[in-house]
Amino acid sequence: MLEGSAPDREYFSEQAAVGIVHASPEGEILTCNARFAEIIGYPLEQVPGLTFKENRTPEDGPSVTEAFNRLWSGQADQVSLETRYIRKDGSSTRLKVTASLKMNGDGKASYLLAHVEDLDSQKTAEIAPVVPAKVQVTGNECYRKVFQTCPDAVLIAQLSNGTIVDANPAFLEVMGFAREEVIAKTSLELEMWADAGDCSRLSGLLHQDSGCQDLEVRLKRKNGEVFWGQLSASSTAIEGVSCILIFIRDISAAKAEEEEIRNLAFYDSLTSLPNRRLLWERLRQALIVSIRNRCKHALLFVDLDDFKSLNDAMGHHVGDLILQETARRISGCVREVDTVARLGGDEFVVILEDLSQTPEIAADQAQTVGAKIRAAINQPFVFEGRECSTTSSMGITVFGNESESTNEVLQQADIAMYQAKAAGRNTMRFFTPALQASVNARTAMEDDLRRAIKENQFSLYYQPQVDRGLLIGAEALIRWNHPQRGIVSPCDFVPLAEETGLILPLGKWVLDTACAQIASWANRREGAHLTVAVNISAREFRQPKFVEHVLTTLDRTGANPQNLKIDLTESMLVDKVEDVIAKMTELKSHGVRFSLDDFGAGPASMAYLKRLPLDQMKIDRSFVEEILVDPISGAVAQAIIAFSKAMGLSVIAEGVETEEQRAFLAALGCHSFQGYLFSHPLPWGDF
Ligand code: C2E
Ligand code: MG
Repeated sequence: MLEGSAPDREYFSEQAAVGIVHASPEGEILTCNARFAEIIGYPLEQVPGLTFKENRTPEDGPSVTEAFNRLWSGQADQVSLETRYIRKDGSSTRLKVTASLKMNGDGKASYLLAHVEDLDSQKTAEIAPVVPAKVQVTGNECYRKVFQTCPDAVLIAQLSNGTIVDANPAFLEVMGFAREEVIAKTSLELEMWADAGDCSRLSGLLHQDSGCQDLEVRLKRKNGEVFWGQLSASSTAIEGVSCILIFIRDISAAKAEEEEIRNLAFYDSLTSLPNRRLLWERLRQALIVSIRNRCKHALLFVDLDDFKSLNDAMGHHVGDLILQETARRISGCVREVDTVARLGGDEFVVILEDLSQTPEIAADQAQTVGAKIRAAINQPFVFEGRECSTTSSMGITVFGNESESTNEVLQQADIAMYQAKAAGRNTMRFFTPALQASVNARTAMEDDLRRAIKENQFSLYYQPQVDRGLLIGAEALIRWNHPQRGIVSPCDFVPLAEETGLILPLGKWVLDTACAQIASWANRREGAHLTVAVNISAREFRQPKFVEHVLTTLDRTGANPQNLKIDLTESMLVDKVEDVIAKMTELKSHGVRFSLDDFGAGPASMAYLKRLPLDQMKIDRSFVEEILVDPISGAVAQAIIAFSKAMGLSVIAEGVETEEQRAFLAALGCHSFQGYLFSHPLPWGDF
């Protein structure tokens, strides 16, 4: 029976004309094949324990010693030498020995494998018949021993169905199984592959080439522990049955060493951050990505202001702790995709990836993160009961165009950092003056906006909407009465408010004011049917409590939900479709209506729009503006009207300035309008 059989002589070269010796690294013979015993004239069982050394003739001393030394010192993987060997009967024979050392996972020699040819009787050996039956039996015993004592894990499985026929003690030990747990099972049943694909990869290789060498795979021990194994496999016949013979060597230690070497090469040992080399690589990647997706990236060069004096005053040990803590703080301010690296000393570099495509906005995003990092570094450090603090200087460059090189980008940030130092330290500077100016302007505007919200410098204007000459409602449009600049258009501050989150308090005020207006109209007979359209930004709509917020506002102000229309823009409908639909449906069930503001300008498709519970489509001002001169704008308007009709939605054209535009739209079937032809947006009193 196959079970328990040793590998047959075919595999272990029992019939080979050469002698095969398995020896300890020091040269003490552990086992050999029958041919080797025959060459040296010893009974097979007397060979183990012999050494190559003691049976050599004195004359070939130094050259052989030298060859083995080269093997042991690692200078050669394999050596080939000729020596004279004294046989048991005292005669000598000339041997050609080809030897190699086999290493185990942690790089230590585990055994020596030698092929031995008898040069004096080569002719005889070549024509010698296959080994007689008597030796085969002894040979099987011998190779059973090799199998049993081999330091590598050996597994024999049937090729046809993968069931395990035998496993040696090394296999059982490394995998943590008892012999009876593995026999007649498959490797899949033992769940020994950590990566499921490896088993099929191996069988693919076996079918293609009848074997593979040194495949690195992750294996799972019985206790679930995963380790790296180096696997060699070949197919062979055992008692006429095709089998796979698998050798596995545990190379976890070598892998760990490899990882350590990689870490040393790419990571800073003090902070574990990427070092200059890895930074270079990431920067190169970022440049490639930016060419593809046109997004800007930013590079921030951070230098601590007082590190040298701190290091001198507090000692190098504390200096190291400060650097480690700084590394942690910087890393805590950026996203997973960003890179924080340490160049050496107290110099850190941050790459912020995938910022806006617009350089000014990207600069603003970088400045926000930069400010966060500086604030984090400014926090006091407390080590061993002692407190100290430092500030940082930061240079920022926004990059991402084809002509830039990694060198240039680093240099730009470096220059900007020196400008920050020159400006009195504890500050940040942008590489280009234009970006610096734009960042300054946005920062000033943001400050103004915060103050404006606090001081309530806003008012709500109303632009009439008419249908066939009758007033049907109004769109509420926000205005900022800036103390110095006068009335500021929402186009100039709504995007900034959206970005900074200030749109939330602002939008709350708008909805509140509009609902209060609706409630006051309801008391007048001529106003009860009017709807007020309120623009809602994506950021407002995405708030988890948006629905609740609208409903409580309606409730508090006493406004009839039927009179409220929410203007959504197409761009906000792109992600989380299900969430958008759920929120719209919920509000609609209370009577609130929805209009789609800028359809045609964004990416939404008709198929997608069909799913939204809308009430109205707006024809955007940009199409109306061109409608008489540009056939495409005309066609878009026509398509929106047709779509609205088909879907049972109302349609309104926005930005109608002339009678010709109105007539054209009316001829296409659109009868609701909003625009300067009828009225500009008006303060509540004038409306
Ligand atoms: P929108 O929702 O498309 O608003 C229509 C804009 O077109 C308004 O500009 C309005 O004054 C302008 N307009 C109306 N009729 C005409 C016309 O005949 N010709 C021309 N050239 N323009 C006309 P406005 O008030 O400057 O608002 C601009 C944008 O700001 C709005 O575009 C809206 O997206 C946003 N916005 C305004 N108020 C709010 C608000 O309270 N919340 C939010 N989130 N966004 C608002
Ligand atoms: Mg609107």
